[in-house]
Amino acid sequence: MDWIRLTKSGKDLTGLKGRLIEVTEEELKKHNKRDDCWICIRGFVYNVSPYMEYHPGGEDELMRAAGSDGTDLFDQVHRWVNYESMLKECLVGRMAVKPAIPKGSHEGKKVLNGMLPKSPVTDPLPKEGPSSPSYDWFQTDSLVTIVIYTKQKGISLDSVIIDHQGDSIRAEVIVKDYSYLLHIELCHDVQEDFSVRVIENVGKIEIILRKRENTSWKCLGRPLENDNSLIPKKDRGLCYRKCQLISKEDVTHDTKLLCVMLPPSTHLQVPVGQHVYLKLTITGTEIVKPYTPVSDSLLSEFKEPVLMNNKYIYFLIKIYPAGLFTPELDHLQIGDFVSVSNPEGNFKISRLQELEDLYLLAAGTGFTPMVKIMNYALTYLPSLRTMKLMFFNKTEDDIIWRSQLEKLACKDKRFDVEFVLSASTSDWNGKQGRISPALLSEFLKTNLDKSKVLICICGPTPFTEEGIKLLHDLNFSKDEIHSFTA
Ligand code: FAD
Ligand code: NAD
Repeated sequence: MDWIRLTKSGKDLTGLKGRLIEVTEEELKKHNKRDDCWICIRGFVYNVSPYMEYHPGGEDELMRAAGSDGTDLFDQVHRWVNYESMLKECLVGRMAVKPAIPKGSHEGKKVLNGMLPKSPVTDPLPKEGPSSPSYDWFQTDSLVTIVIYTKQKGISLDSVIIDHQGDSIRAEVIVKDYSYLLHIELCHDVQEDFSVRVIENVGKIEIILRKRENTSWKCLGRPLENDNSLIPKKDRGLCYRKCQLISKEDVTHDTKLLCVMLPPSTHLQVPVGQHVYLKLTITGTEIVKPYTPVSDSLLSEFKEPVLMNNKYIYFLIKIYPAGLFTPELDHLQIGDFVSVSNPEGNFKISRLQELEDLYLLAAGTGFTPMVKIMNYALTYLPSLRTMKLMFFNKTEDDIIWRSQLEKLACKDKRFDVEFVLSASTSDWNGKQGRISPALLSEFLKTNLDKSKVLICICGPTPFTEEGIKLLHDLNFSKDEIHSFTA
């Protein structure tokens, strides 16, 4: 908030009195000191000296990119952060475009991120990438069907994110770790809503649009930015759509269950174990934070998981009174809007296949990714023998969905839950303390029969780091552990 206030104060933060300049690589290199520090992100140069003391990661972290292109470093740490908005008052200008470099020359490596024209045709994909999908279309009197051929098995409804806004349609398909984009300005009007079908065994996706008028279309439309491109998923910018807050209910004294509704013109399903980014404008600056969708309750979804309405996304969110983002979320009224991004995350559902023992270590809101994993495992994994959750909280009042967890443990013999409190009162009879070798070795069965095991861990960073270390000490391999981080 202090940083936002400073940016609104009208101070000249670049030292250029509002002028924007073209920056050469030589010029950028010169600005590499704390009190004169320029950094290039995706072709734009920022004077980050005034931001030094506000950077949550500290000054040294920012200095790692001083006088150079910080795009890769930025993307590694927090690529969701909306630097364009946070640093708009620090914008010095654009990098000067370099003369084209012959293909195959080693010089190519030095070109700054975001400076090369991105063309799917001219930038060949690395050999290990999937072959490029393609699309086609056909029509009847009332319908237009766009067909995307991914030529890959394993494409499902949650691999496709479609937004139909105004006269444009944007469909992103996740194929392995790549993102294929179809982006078109349609040549005629269509109804806002549409339907999607995926033919999994051939990797074919059909987007069925309803014409507003029964005229014959001569063409589908005009390609928009990055249409028909296939690039690594991490290089595709996040896309947001405005979702309406439908309900908000208390779960604990500081945690709420929020339900937002996707617009009818969006198809988006958040895969198990993945998160999205929520975006709000706070005193004129766009702020973005990650959150992991859950189901509306632990028990209801077990009844009819297939019939879940995909138009709603639920979040369990802890409100920090002194936090930047969550108090604003808490102030939203029913009917207000919040922007929701495409899903992200490195958890792959394939890690659960043929699993026999699943252990979940969650601390505080680190419980959120476990919700869908638990649901999926109990519903779809015939191989599952045991699923155990060790849930770390400060006090009894902090435990999210305690009674639901206890009911589920009674209902399903495969599931067991243990609560561990780090700040318990004297009347607590259960386990106490923080994550420790003693707690873990008691909780985790020694895997003598070599069953297929996965341990998922999520919570405050020190908790997760300590947990991973202890699990390695207990001889669990990297393949048997999944930690949730940003
Ligand atoms: P912040 O402003 O980040 O502050 C958080 C707390 O730290 C507050 O108590 C604040 O007072 C304190 N604090 C801030 N700065 C300082 C400082 N300099 N010194 C001391 N204390 C300080 N959270 C959920 O509730 N539900 C989820 O589903 C969820 N999913 C997540 C998924 C991922 C992948 C990740 C990385 C995080 C997730 N989080 C989730 C956490 C969430 O992204 C936010 O970090 C959290 O909501 C806090 O945001 P905030 O802006 O309100 O608080
Ligand atoms: P909290 O402060 O209420 O702590 C919950 C428990 O975590 C404590 O009782 C303790 O057992 C343990 N813990 C806390 N600090 C610890 C430390 N330094 N060392 C060892 N154990 C510690 O937790 P909270 O406020 O609910 O925070 C939850 C955290 O989980 C947040 O940092 C959030 O960003 C993170 N989170 C991450 C993801 C993700 O990466 N996918 C998802 C959800 C939440």
